[in-house]
Amino acid sequence: MSKPAPLFNRLALIGVGLIGSSIARAARAQGAVGSIVATARSPQTRKRVAELGLADQVVETNAAAVEGADLVIVCIPVGACGAVAKEIGPHLAPGAVVSDVGSVKGAIVRDMAPHLPPNVHFVPAHPVAGTEYSGPDAGFAELFVNRWCILTPPEGTDAKAVDKLATFWRLFGANVETMAADHHDLVLAITSHLPHLIAYTIVGTADELQTVTRSEVLKFSAGGFRDFTRIAASDPTMWRDVFLANKDAVLEMLGRFNEDISLLTKAIRNGDGKALFEHFERTRAIRKGIVDIGQDSPSPDFGRPHPGIEPLAKPYAADGD
Ligand code: NAP
Repeated sequence: MSKPAPLFNRLALIGVGLIGSSIARAARAQGAVGSIVATARSPQTRKRVAELGLADQVVETNAAAVEGADLVIVCIPVGACGAVAKEIGPHLAPGAVVSDVGSVKGAIVRDMAPHLPPNVHFVPAHPVAGTEYSGPDAGFAELFVNRWCILTPPEGTDAKAVDKLATFWRLFGANVETMAADHHDLVLAITSHLPHLIAYTIVGTADELQTVTRSEVLKFSAGGFRDFTRIAASDPTMWRDVFLANKDAVLEMLGRFNEDISLLTKAIRNGDGKALFEHFERTRAIRKGIVDIGQDSPSPDFGRPHPGIEPLAKPYAADGD
């Protein structure tokens, strides 16, 4: 049976780290695009992308990458997207779909949209899938399977362009939802950004403890702490940009978190077991809901045998940002 025609003729990837290289691999695997042209900031990454054969062509500049591309995806830290949009704006092909993968969307729209010509379709996107690893070697074609990809097209964006990008992401096994950029940022502040902030905090706190040695922290990290260390190993540049770009929503969620942790502190101080039990019962139900809708395995404690439960092929793909 002959393969269906590719959805886009030429995909330009600007930035080929975890996400960019996963898109390249998935696009190849699904025959989603006719050809891939890629570029990255550093010569080392460009060399590695060529060695891995992730693109048909690896070029040196962002401007050269977008020439003649009908789909451009910017896969770099959020804080760098505005400058790249300014650079590529004059070189974009008329009718091209221009997208990104940034974990914050309001700032992307604010920083990129003013530099894009009116004859292209700007459809910002956020694949809510990731790992704590970075760079072109870290990606894999299955990263987006059964994960959400959220599209945040500014008002008035051509519906056909939005549909086409949605189809592109669905080819990778992703579920697609469309929402306003500000709403995205509020939702992700609580589901992703605050958890990362807490992980970064708690691992730092443990590191500073005088009475518990570093070797003890490592040795006894089999409890909840180990999951935090994995999240806290996420890319520092990416996460610096996320917190700078989503300041208001993160501060709002952090305020609520601080109120709730005060309530739990009070319950512990007062020996209020009922309050603690009721709270934990509620949160356990949330966990069950996440497993029930297939957003995590019942057994994410990978690497340790769990009778009767098949480990996932890619142990860390369950964590998304
Ligand atoms: P990554 O693996 O660290 O790759 C980042 C890429 O961006 C590299 O090609 C890097 O080039 C390039 N880059 C870094 N700083 C740059 C700059 N100032 N100007 C131009 N290019 C620059 O990162 P990633 O995990 O793929 O993340 C990329 C984007 O995806 C981010 O916006 C992030 O918010 C979003 N995202 C990440 C995840 C996740 O879990 N990691 C999930 C969903 C969305 P060099 O290698 O040459 O330095």
